[in-house]
Amino acid sequence: MSIDVDASIGALRQSLEGVVLAPGDTDYDAARVCFNALVDRRPAVIVRCIGAEDIATAFDYARSHDLEVAVRGGGHNPAGHCVLDDGLVIDLSAMRRVEVDPDARVARAQGGSTWSDFDTSTQAFGLVTPGGVVVSTGVAGLTFGGGIGHLTAQHGLTCDNLVGAELVVPDGSVVQVTEHENAELLYGLRGGGGNFGVATQVEFRLHPLERVVGGRLDYRGAGVRNTLRRYRDVVGGSPRDLSCQAVVGVNESRTPELLLAPCYTGSRTDPVELETLRSAPGLVSDDVRARPFLEQQLVLDSPYGMNRHYWKGHFVRELTDELIDELLLRIVEFGQPQSHVLLESLHGAPKDVAASSSALAYRHAAFNVSVMAVWSEPEADDRHIVWARETAAAIEPWSLGGGYANYMQADEPLERIRGSYGEAGFERLRALKRRHDPNNVLRRNQNIPPS
Ligand SMILES: Cc1cc2nc3c(=O)[nH]c(=O)nc-3n(C[C@H](O)[C@H](O)[C@H](O)COP(=O)(O)OP(=O)(O)OC[C@H]3O[C@@H](n4cnc5c(N)ncnc54)[C@H](O)[C@@H]3O)c2cc1C
Repeated sequence: MSIDVDASIGALRQSLEGVVLAPGDTDYDAARVCFNALVDRRPAVIVRCIGAEDIATAFDYARSHDLEVAVRGGGHNPAGHCVLDDGLVIDLSAMRRVEVDPDARVARAQGGSTWSDFDTSTQAFGLVTPGGVVVSTGVAGLTFGGGIGHLTAQHGLTCDNLVGAELVVPDGSVVQVTEHENAELLYGLRGGGGNFGVATQVEFRLHPLERVVGGRLDYRGAGVRNTLRRYRDVVGGSPRDLSCQAVVGVNESRTPELLLAPCYTGSRTDPVELETLRSAPGLVSDDVRARPFLEQQLVLDSPYGMNRHYWKGHFVRELTDELIDELLLRIVEFGQPQSHVLLESLHGAPKDVAASSSALAYRHAAFNVSVMAVWSEPEADDRHIVWARETAAAIEPWSLGGGYANYMQADEPLERIRGSYGEAGFERLRALKRRHDPNNVLRRNQNIPPS
């Protein structure tokens, strides 16, 4: 820590309602851990804020001490954007209150809320908004990148359900965002990431939902190839009451494995689509049944801070037989059981929304295909990163031209960020950035430089 920061930290502690964590403080090391164990950084100071005034004070302190700023919500971004060496972290993990207005069918979540906080609060009223599939992920962080999950086909991307926010922008002022006030910011927050300000609160439209038919179907063996084709045909073409993600990998003996996570919310007891998936080759386990939505949200998980991750992918126009074969070949050749490819279908409600209402491009894609290298030994870094890069490159012929910002690593070039929004969308976001963060203070993200 610089002498300047060291000497002034006492005054910073006094000026906040929240807590300051500096090297040597008891909770400092726990507070700098993020989801991806590949990232191990030591901030000069972590400001655990409890409201807009603390956030403005943190911005002010960073400016006057020439510190770079990172923002931490749930800590899940695989790029590790929530933590930085020698800079200041605006940590929102103490701001997790969620208020539900069941009559108006809206929920307001504080900027550090996780999906666990959110779903528990809204499900108490039999309501829901489509969120992420791992409940420790941050609500605001996921929403600002788009948001694909178990209810995407039914209710769209998470950002499509975002109706308002309160932001503290880097000059310390508070900006209200609704469909009528600063509506251009609402467009930017729907996919443009944490580029425009720190959200103290995000507000969502809610939908009635209590029970789903969901869980997981596991397949193994050579039949996985044909089951994946069936998954593509059934899910990609299914009615919007069925969302279903697929995870393709191998076991220790390089045998292909496939996990499907259907989430059906229609009124039929035995929907034909589920029957068709169940009868596909290689099924070894089936725990799909009627269950509360909160249980569905626990079907997929990934341990926090344990494994090293490198993800890269593309929105594709179609999932052809050739692409399925290519992915399977590369997964089996690599033969690493933790590493996998995630397939997320974008059929149904995402297609209802006008492209101009959200920054996230490629809602017209058939699938989001993400190569996810996962490992634990540092000496295996290069091998896994090369595999993820080469496998993602092999998807390119089917790509619509962009990837999913929420899954991007920090080494993505500006061209890939631009590609995620399309030329016109990127320029629109750059103009918005110039208005609210002209000095690019919020650059520890999938960054949109001001125009
Ligand atoms: C295990 C796992 C599961 C995931 N599942 C899904 C999924 O199902 N669907 C999906 O779409 N994505 C998913 N993601 C990706 C995830 O949505 C993004 O990485 C997202 O950025 C994580 O947000 P966070 O707050 O948890 O992370 P953080 O690392 O804390 O934050 C990431 C960035 O988000 C911004 N941010 C966070 N909170 C705020 C705020 N209040 N105000 C302003 N900016 C903010 C900041 O720029 C910050 O650097 C998953 C990631 C992981 C690791």
